Amino acid sequence: MTKRLDTRLIFITGGVISSLGKGITAASLGVILKGKGFSVNIMKFDPYINVDSGTMNPFQHGEVYITKDGAETDLDLGHYERYISRDMTSLNNVTTGKVYNAVIEKERRGDYLGNTVQVVPHITDEIKSRIYRLVDRKDDFLICEIGGTVGDIESLPFLEAIRQIKLEYPADVMFIHLTLIPFIRSSEEFKTKPTQHSVNELRRIGIQPDFLACRSEREISKELKNKVSLFCSVSVDRVISVPDQKSIYEVPLKLEEQDFSVKILEFFNITQIRKSDYINSWKKFLNDFFAHEKEITIGIVGKYVDLTDSYMSIREAVNHASSYLKVRTGIEWIESADITEKDRSKLNGMNGILIPGGFGDRGIEGMIQAAKYARENDIPCFGICLGMQILIIDIARHVLEMKGANSTEFDAKTPYKVIDIQEHQKKIKDKGGTQRLGHYPCKITKGTRAHEAYGESLILERHRHRFEFNNEFKQRFESAGVIFSGICPENELVEISEMKGKGFFLGCQFHPELQSRPLNPHPLFINFIEKILEAKI
Ligand code: GLN
Repeated sequence: MTKRLDTRLIFITGGVISSLGKGITAASLGVILKGKGFSVNIMKFDPYINVDSGTMNPFQHGEVYITKDGAETDLDLGHYERYISRDMTSLNNVTTGKVYNAVIEKERRGDYLGNTVQVVPHITDEIKSRIYRLVDRKDDFLICEIGGTVGDIESLPFLEAIRQIKLEYPADVMFIHLTLIPFIRSSEEFKTKPTQHSVNELRRIGIQPDFLACRSEREISKELKNKVSLFCSVSVDRVISVPDQKSIYEVPLKLEEQDFSVKILEFFNITQIRKSDYINSWKKFLNDFFAHEKEITIGIVGKYVDLTDSYMSIREAVNHASSYLKVRTGIEWIESADITEKDRSKLNGMNGILIPGGFGDRGIEGMIQAAKYARENDIPCFGICLGMQILIIDIARHVLEMKGANSTEFDAKTPYKVIDIQEHQKKIKDKGGTQRLGHYPCKITKGTRAHEAYGESLILERHRHRFEFNNEFKQRFESAGVIFSGICPENELVEISEMKGKGFFLGCQFHPELQSRPLNPHPLFINFIEKILEAKI
């Protein structure tokens, strides 16, 4: 008798080039399976040797996504959470670094009983164990994205591991290969050769894809699907077209148009479909997203703006709240180094200003100027993490006249350490995984802007920072009209600050954008945009 698993496994590999949107495809599959009433989990393997993405430069790797249990993960986990409305944990993102760390620890303990430790079977067994850890009776499907591109040296152990899983559980494993069909402008035609090569490469290591998801600039024809089918040995109804869309949130519907979820269920011989409203809710979100009854522009003043992937979750949180309010929100990415006391022209025309998170002192003075400009001109201003610290420094310097006030992150000798590192953090030498990370509770004072937004008195939000508001200065700030409306009940740390009498001049030490979902936009983003609309009238 063949062995069976409690959960069906869908592996997604990528071919030809990176950045094809494997994460969005995995997440979209999650949406359509949820749409048929099934429970879905999603995980990602990242073939790099870093233990996590926490120490990686956002310029290279995009945003570091923080899970509620404090793991610093790949930004694709953000897509997963947003699409399937489910919180991920540290178990959902596994890197080569994590796998090797675990194997080496076992070797040092003597767990391998004198054997030579090798990629096959020890590394591959560790990879498989990370997958089986998420096989759970509660979940019908586990979608597993293999990062990187087929043919990369780094991906090989992962591909070998999933090949072995297919051998162990043939009835419970599906392989989907995401590939590119480039359109060659000079000859006005699509080319299938890269896809053929990529599938050949997969087959060489023993994996025959069950489905092909073909990324392309525009819709591919039936003839082209036939050609891909023939050369790649995948039946034509299992060649799925994934052309570019106006919004990434349209991808699930594009897949559904081709009955992808039904084909997956057929593949696994699943005949019972359950009831679910998920796709309808998704469609409603999309309709509102394109409804555009009003229009605003938000300036995001940051330091990683040339690659907006660095602020991916903020952009999406703005999108979710905008859709909810049926507003078309344009985002201007403004390099903070371009703003000076004398020249704040880059902020002209902005209806709202958002100052996001960040590390290091480059561009800080420009952000402080942006906060000052917003405060003095009653432009709604939202500071997130580093952004909250910036709003505090602006008030210290320009309202409380604390000349040279700063965060000790940027000026260790500042006369006014309004933002400072916590005592226990000072001794920490390792950079990876040592910040204040993950969920912490926050108590919200009634009658404040924060309470108006949340409508709740106790919330949980995700963190990633080392520095904090220095409570020694609390009373002085309060005398200038600052309300510390959110406090962590565990240690009295300031989590939200706002300015009395201002429409919206609010900072939070946590990252609200990480909990915003298309189907459940974040209250602070909704309130921010509402206040922008009020200020604009
Ligand atoms: N650099 C600041 C700190 O460590 C802010 C971090 C952030 O914005 N994520 O406290």
